[in-house]
Amino acid sequence: MHPDFVPQKKVIFPFALKLGLGIGMLIGTVGCSGGERLAETIVEADIAYAPDSSAADVIIRLRESRRADAYLTDVYEPLTVIDIHNHDASTRDPAGWWGAQGMDRLVLFGDVSEPSAQITDAMAWEHYRANPERIYPSFAGFPVYDEEGPRIVERNLEQGYLAIGEIVAASTASPVVSQVEWKAQHPNDGYLPDIYELAAAYKVPILLHIDPPNGMPIAYFVQALREHPDTIFVFAHANVFNPPSHIEGMIKEFPNLYIDFFPGFTAYDPGSGNKLEDFVPLLESYPDRVFLSTDGGYGIGKTRAAYAMFEMIDLLSPETAVKVAYQNYERLIEQQPPTATQISKIKELTGKLNEPGRYSLNKRKANELIFELERRLAGLGGS
Ligand SMILES: [Zn+2]
Repeated sequence: MHPDFVPQKKVIFPFALKLGLGIGMLIGTVGCSGGERLAETIVEADIAYAPDSSAADVIIRLRESRRADAYLTDVYEPLTVIDIHNHDASTRDPAGWWGAQGMDRLVLFGDVSEPSAQITDAMAWEHYRANPERIYPSFAGFPVYDEEGPRIVERNLEQGYLAIGEIVAASTASPVVSQVEWKAQHPNDGYLPDIYELAAAYKVPILLHIDPPNGMPIAYFVQALREHPDTIFVFAHANVFNPPSHIEGMIKEFPNLYIDFFPGFTAYDPGSGNKLEDFVPLLESYPDRVFLSTDGGYGIGKTRAAYAMFEMIDLLSPETAVKVAYQNYERLIEQQPPTATQISKIKELTGKLNEPGRYSLNKRKANELIFELERRLAGLGGS
């Protein structure tokens, strides 16, 4: 259990939350005059996202000037890359280590769907606090068969976590993951439907491990995709033991489905029946629906998992490369509104500092403001 969350009496259900956010966004406008003295801090939601439109041109230029024998990590050094599936929350310096492999930002968590994940979830948060521009904190420690599950999810989302996952929504084939205590039997099991609705209300992506990627688990996944059209579902390492044709059928049918593509598996795992090239038409056809990840190097080693990210990027058109490398996921982060808990925390901290202000921000920026206000307040305390 993390010390920072504000205890909640009950689960706020999505419609109430949506209503609250709707009202919040209607109040006031930005741009008060500098000299105005506010009685109280005002926080408004600003969830606009404008991707850097020059990023594809940067790729064109660096491809033109590359040396034939250059290491891909060096070629693509100027490109921002997000690893959207990274298990290294329990390591000492994940942002630094993976940064040296070319991963500029990590969607970070640790263990999955078992009690120990609550400890690694808290570690992910501490890495985020220390390094907010490099980490997107995610969490995976909650039971799916207990009503405590959705309560933990809501509390973490209110606190400021930006993603849910990796959640084991089905596993029988994976030797490690199939053993975890809080795994679901299928993607519509237990309290998962409530958790999908919470994910939709907070606009956070939920990363689901589903194996095998066919048969019964996928039939239930399809049901979940249909029943929760506003939830952003991310199919973890969808290319593992799964050919592009299977993925394409699902992408085409469900606009709320996103693909976590793990290039390291396809490039380096002897069990892969495909090559990276086989997936290029899929990524080029659905450039807005795919992200890249290392899965922490599962099965193939971390260095190769990171390098394979660049091998995939190198095969893509510049426009698709910048989207899958970072803009698709960045959009999902930047479009999350601040939560009621964050807003009251900002009011409380600015009140203690006696500095009422007017803020227009999203959930990520609200976290960063809170960290900064907390540091300043700690500084004033002389500790
Ligand atoms: Zn994983």
